Amino acid sequence: MNLPKKIFALLFLCAFTNYFSQDSSLARKDIDFLTSKVCWGRGYTNKGLEKAAEYLNKSFKTIGLKPLNKKKYSQFLYMNVNTFPGKMEVIADGKKLIPGVHFIVDNESKGISGGFMLFKKDSVTYHAADARSTVPLIISLQKKLTWSASQKVSEGTIIELLKDSFQKEIKNMDVQIETKFVKNYKMQNICGFIPGTEKKDSFIVFTAHYDHLGGMGSTTFFPGANDNASGVSLVLQLARYYKLNPPKYNVAFLLFCGEEAGLVGSKYFTENPLMPLSKIKFLVNLDLLGTGDEGITVVNATEFKKEFDLLKSINDEKKLLSLVKPRGKAQNSDHFYFGQKGVHCFFIYTMGGIKAYHDVYDISKTLPLTKYKEVFLLLTEFVARF
Ligand SMILES: [Zn+2]
Repeated sequence: MNLPKKIFALLFLCAFTNYFSQDSSLARKDIDFLTSKVCWGRGYTNKGLEKAAEYLNKSFKTIGLKPLNKKKYSQFLYMNVNTFPGKMEVIADGKKLIPGVHFIVDNESKGISGGFMLFKKDSVTYHAADARSTVPLIISLQKKLTWSASQKVSEGTIIELLKDSFQKEIKNMDVQIETKFVKNYKMQNICGFIPGTEKKDSFIVFTAHYDHLGGMGSTTFFPGANDNASGVSLVLQLARYYKLNPPKYNVAFLLFCGEEAGLVGSKYFTENPLMPLSKIKFLVNLDLLGTGDEGITVVNATEFKKEFDLLKSINDEKKLLSLVKPRGKAQNSDHFYFGQKGVHCFFIYTMGGIKAYHDVYDISKTLPLTKYKEVFLLLTEFVARF
């Protein structure tokens, strides 16, 4: 019997929806763990990144992926990193401030302790009054607190304050901020694959970074639910799916470290690849996958027009996302160094919804995963038509 096209589309959606409802609780479980206190923002204190790596190695094993690095999933590498393991106290005119809520310490800052008189430099900047020519402490008022990670440490300390919380001029500040510059911090990319049924020498690759910013002091960490527990969980979902539905090509799953400190893990992988880069048919990097109310953006759409047209036509046909927006080349996530080495690749992120980004509010509880399933369907159909 010849079923009309429409029914086929419907059946397609039903089949995947079934698969997904069985499995979507696993996605939330992954995100909950990766954003939990145990993983401490998947950074460089409290063994946060290591706990996350341990969990992901176990997940790869449970799913049944083959290791890409001989008998291991792990590809180890080293990076210098500025960390904030201990004291994180700031008192402004007698008021104790909450880390992450009222203030953040700029990621390149050096530790500092003492009481300082402040003077206003301009409408958004204070300097600590000091006899020395270098200013040991700078206070900068910001509309939003956005943290980051750094491979360097500078000479001074910058504290960023949330502007709205400080209407009155600040006169004094007591600070105790402990930092530790760690040389050659050992970390790992996690790399596995599922062998293809036909084209055994070519790879489709899905990537996502599992690191985030870590912790700032001993009580505050940055959970990084949207950035990028969401992308990691989607890579795991894809791995589970392809294990049950072996693809034509080999499909590799790469989870990178050190992205937030400057694409360190993915750059290392492109310099020390575990498969010949020339054998990568296409690579899709997933970073910020937790929303989608306003569709998705596809970085490198203008570079790989044919593949972008395919993605768009699948979306039009299956009516998955409200917008599949093209964007040019950008050095903003782990696809970048692959692109530089001639690998055909996209970086996909979702748009709309929550505004939390690189702050303490990027948590699992408020991460909607609005179009998570639709992005999954789009990607699997994209691979199927390759
Ligand atoms: Zn990210």
